[in-house]
Amino acid sequence: MKLNIDYQEKFEQRHIAPNEQDTAKMLETISADSVDQLIEQTVPANIRLKKVLDLPRAKSEADYLNDLKQVASKNKVFKSYIGQGYHDVIVPGVIQRNILENPGWYTQYTPYQAEISQGRLQALLNFQTMVADLTGMEIANASLLDEGTAAAEAMFMQYSLRKNENAKIFFVSEEVLPQTIDILKTRSAPYGIEILIGNHRKAELNEDMFGAIVQYPAGTGEVYNYSDFALKAHEKGIKLTVIADIMSLALLSPPGEWGADIVLGSSQRFGVPMGFGGPHAAFFATKEEYKRSLPGRIIGVTIDSAGNYALRMALQTREQHIRRDKATSNICTAQALLAIMSGMYAVYHGPKGIKLIAERIHGLTVFLASALENLGYKQENKNFFDTVKLELGDLIDPIHAEALNNEVNLHYIGSSVSITIDETTSTEDVMTLIRFFAKVKGKTIHDLDIDNLKSIVRSQIPEELKRKSAFLTHPIFNSHHSEHEMLRYIKSLEAKDLSLCHSMIALGSCTMKLNATTEMVPVTWAEFSKIHPFAPADQVGGYMQIFDELNKWLSEITGFAAMSLQPNSGAQGEYAGLMVIRAYHSDRGDAQRNVALIPSSAHGTNPASAAMAGMKIVIVKCDERGNIDVADLKAKAEEHASDLSCLMVTYPSTHGVFEESIVEICEIIHHNGGQVYMDGANMNAQVGLTSPATIGADVCHLNLHKTFCIPHGGGGPGMGPIGVAKHLVPYLPGHAVVNIGNSKSISAVSSAPWGSASILLISHAYIAMMGAEGLTNATKYAILNANYIKSRLESSYPVLYSGSQGRCAHEMILDCRAFKNFGIEVTDIAKRLMDYGFHAPTVSFPVAGTVMIEPTESEPKHELDRFCDAMIAIREEIAEVESGQIDKTDNPLKNAPHTSSVVTSDAWGHPYSRKKAAFPLPYVSAYKFWPSVGRVNDTYGDRTLVCSCPPVESYAEETV
Ligand SMILES: *Cc1c(COP(=O)(O)O)cnc(C)c1O
Repeated sequence: MKLNIDYQEKFEQRHIAPNEQDTAKMLETISADSVDQLIEQTVPANIRLKKVLDLPRAKSEADYLNDLKQVASKNKVFKSYIGQGYHDVIVPGVIQRNILENPGWYTQYTPYQAEISQGRLQALLNFQTMVADLTGMEIANASLLDEGTAAAEAMFMQYSLRKNENAKIFFVSEEVLPQTIDILKTRSAPYGIEILIGNHRKAELNEDMFGAIVQYPAGTGEVYNYSDFALKAHEKGIKLTVIADIMSLALLSPPGEWGADIVLGSSQRFGVPMGFGGPHAAFFATKEEYKRSLPGRIIGVTIDSAGNYALRMALQTREQHIRRDKATSNICTAQALLAIMSGMYAVYHGPKGIKLIAERIHGLTVFLASALENLGYKQENKNFFDTVKLELGDLIDPIHAEALNNEVNLHYIGSSVSITIDETTSTEDVMTLIRFFAKVKGKTIHDLDIDNLKSIVRSQIPEELKRKSAFLTHPIFNSHHSEHEMLRYIKSLEAKDLSLCHSMIALGSCTMKLNATTEMVPVTWAEFSKIHPFAPADQVGGYMQIFDELNKWLSEITGFAAMSLQPNSGAQGEYAGLMVIRAYHSDRGDAQRNVALIPSSAHGTNPASAAMAGMKIVIVKCDERGNIDVADLKAKAEEHASDLSCLMVTYPSTHGVFEESIVEICEIIHHNGGQVYMDGANMNAQVGLTSPATIGADVCHLNLHKTFCIPHGGGGPGMGPIGVAKHLVPYLPGHAVVNIGNSKSISAVSSAPWGSASILLISHAYIAMMGAEGLTNATKYAILNANYIKSRLESSYPVLYSGSQGRCAHEMILDCRAFKNFGIEVTDIAKRLMDYGFHAPTVSFPVAGTVMIEPTESEPKHELDRFCDAMIAIREEIAEVESGQIDKTDNPLKNAPHTSSVVTSDAWGHPYSRKKAAFPLPYVSAYKFWPSVGRVNDTYGDRTLVCSCPPVESYAEETV
């Protein structure tokens, strides 16, 4: 027998689940002869790509990792003392392996379905409690995208809270980090907010200012006492935002105790790798009285149907609508996984551990400062926590050279240098610094009395700036300090949450596909995770190669000329894209073009982003088939021909249909002087078959955490790079610290030049291992799987909207509105699915009272069948209510989900069996996922808003 020695396993066969037999059966069910025939019936011929994508040949998983090791070696892992908002960390192994590298956590969806999300909701509540404690504030949210954008959110929050309508000036301390100032500039411009950069000690505050922002410790490392400044600001009705270093707050007096109205910052240095810029969670805390203006998600305590302690996303109605055109924030995907890691870091170390870490950082900095002073260097920071600043004059070059010899990166500013110590710095590391600083002065370590210097290390923080108040006092932060306890705590939370480890999560518009292990592995390699975003260009060759390739590949996939890899969520991509369009118009003398046409079916982030970009929103109607009403679009485009900026359009539409008129639609917009922004959330139905450029768009974002395999992480991270046509390339975002732009670039939209750089590796791996054919097949199978579900379910549920040949794209909407007539809401279906072991599809978007199902190509036929069986069984339960066979209010739907304690309780008074409650289909008995709480009470939670861990006694009482 001849043996095939050239056999190579194809990753494509791991990623796309249906095999040949499944495919044949599914085609039969949907009455199509072949997958290609289905595609012809689905994707309009006039927008089909005429060629195969020009991408490198697909690599096997093993080859990809081998080759990537080579690329990784082009990144140089130098010891970083750069600081500037990013610090090396020691990620506790128990957190790295069991959260960051654990699909049980990273494949979770955003916790909209609270009953099967209690683990991450608790972890996020811990994060909020930690932030409120450390900052000395009353209420905190569950993370924002990064420090810079959080500062912009604070600016808008202050702006919307202003008492004086005419106040337009925002005071920014000149010692705020440059990347943050850059984002403040970008974000203020469209609103007509004037940024005044100055010295906080000399600033003359007046009533024209609505807010001020300072950094603590400041960008130079100096720790100022801002209490007088806060007092002066408040006298003039100015609110004060403080950007704080989270580690320093263990030793420094928290801003909440000296007058801050908002405190924000990055929680990166609590156990999250630098990753060349991200992903990291920003934190944001404020006073109780401003809770309704707090941007982002807030986790709150409530009770479930049995009156027990339960958690949920608070003020969710507000959150889901993202305030549409009145929005000042467009945050959807945030940084849940990273916030969870930081919260766990605090759980593991506890207040004592955190304080010891902070003291050691400060102690080593004091030691370094005194040694350098003894060597004759002038240290410029009077009060500092972790940063010394030295004026070097002529010695700057020899110091720079010595630093490189010692594989050390310092932060260079003109002829001075700053050195920031972090958790990973050892005494030996500091000795290395002292040695070469001595050498440059022609001295040696023996010229210093090191033992004496070490013995006299004392806190340099002045008394009035020392923290006196306790923090992290809740038992959660004082109970899990041995690894076994920590491991079990993490696992006990994980066990409450349904993730892709359990079953398919068919979330329309969110594309919950496979997040392959091989794609994830490199993210935690030191060559990628321990790189500072401002490391010198010649040390990051590996990352540059990844970005160049990804840029090229995504350009090929979208048909565009270039990408910006900076936006760190889809909504940030929308914003960046619109700002690029704005810059383009203005550069051509068309600054008046500020109208954005947005179809009524659009995702809430679309109008929110347009509002943030200073645009006027005009809504375009959709017809009864869910398509854009072309006549209405034409009329509105013509009416606004002189001030039309753009159309924002999702394709295929949010209704899951390839609109045949899309080319005409784009032409109408262009004809009237506008640009076309395509929301790329549905790119999973396009890759390899058509492209944004082919349909006629000028810009689009890609949600890499949807189409390109970055896991959702329970609500982030994500990446939202934008692609643009040639005429828009000059305007792609630049950066204040790292030179990536040109004279026409808009200023930065994210803190780091390449956003959450380290997770770009995931999408890189996906494309490299799939190749052109694999990616195209993924799209085809996403469409096949969706149409298979449609065929199986359409006799049970009306399917809203399909294409002219009766096909849906990669997702479909099931209409559940008629059930309302006999009291069944779409939420009841969503909750009942939990009893069947499934996460609900997207509920009530884009049409209220419906669910939107998107299976993705990564689900095998038997999983689709299980899901369909569950939906059909639920439909039969609905029929029982409809026919009056079972009580309208006491039935399995209304009482869903059923917890194990309810089902095993001695009392059972319902008109249906316990078996029907918890094991409604045979497959459920084989593998049961138990919701950990009964249905959560939303009203109770919002009425009694509690957003940090309540005292133990309080919920102990409630559970009795
Ligand atoms: C997910 C989504 C967005 C927002 O993307 P984020 O990454 O969550 O910011 C925008 N539009 C549509 C249609 C989406 O599905």
